[in-house]
Amino acid sequence: MSLPITVVKCPTSKYSVKCPYAMTPTRIVVHNTANDASAMNEISYMLGNNNKTSYHYAVDDTRAVQGIPLNRNAWHAGDGLKGIGNRQGIAIEICYSKSGGTRFTKSEQNAAKLLAMLLKQYGWGMNKVTKHQDYSGKRCPHRTIDLGWERFLAMVQKELSALNTPTTGELYRVRKSWNDINSQIGAFKDLEKAKKLCDGNSGYKVYDYKGAQVYPVRKTNEQIAKEVIEGLWGNGEERKKRLTNTGYDYNAIQKIVNKLL
Ligand SMILES: [Zn+2]
Repeated sequence: MSLPITVVKCPTSKYSVKCPYAMTPTRIVVHNTANDASAMNEISYMLGNNNKTSYHYAVDDTRAVQGIPLNRNAWHAGDGLKGIGNRQGIAIEICYSKSGGTRFTKSEQNAAKLLAMLLKQYGWGMNKVTKHQDYSGKRCPHRTIDLGWERFLAMVQKELSALNTPTTGELYRVRKSWNDINSQIGAFKDLEKAKKLCDGNSGYKVYDYKGAQVYPVRKTNEQIAKEVIEGLWGNGEERKKRLTNTGYDYNAIQKIVNKLL
């Protein structure tokens, strides 16, 4: 089940109080609200007052509510005006931590989903998941820590793995080599997205769903024709579709294949 996300826009008139600086996020900072209010109530309250306290998301047992854009900073980590937590962190508040119980358990599960979605969106690994305590020493997220921080990280990892598991076989995979399955850092329906991830990670290549390398090496039509003959590109319509989707000229390659055969 995917997590519903409701966006409540912070009025620009409140930017100077709630999110004065442009931000390029480099991490996620996890909090507990130490309260028993819903995500919508947390965000409404936060946006409605004039305190220099703010956070990007609140997550409860049914949804996530976003109140601050991810390209603006928020005041949540207790590390001051220039702190990395406050100036580079996406803040997530997990609701119902005061009393705990089923609502909190579900809120934590939903938070793990939100974290996984953000990690995937930014192409980040688990090392980008941090907690308020890392920046100011405050025991926050208090209940998540009490129940076990490593346990929570494992929940996020599980959600992230689920997101990265291809639902269909026809994906472009980014790996060091086709046979090195564990090196995979992403799988995409969209070739351009796979190429982009590949560009940012040296030593990686993009493979189509049958294992033919489609990026970054741009092969000649002659080389592809040889691969076709070796059976790497399948037959008939499948071959045509894969070659065309990868950006090769099917007809030109087929001509060469016919000549070689
Ligand atoms: Zn906190």
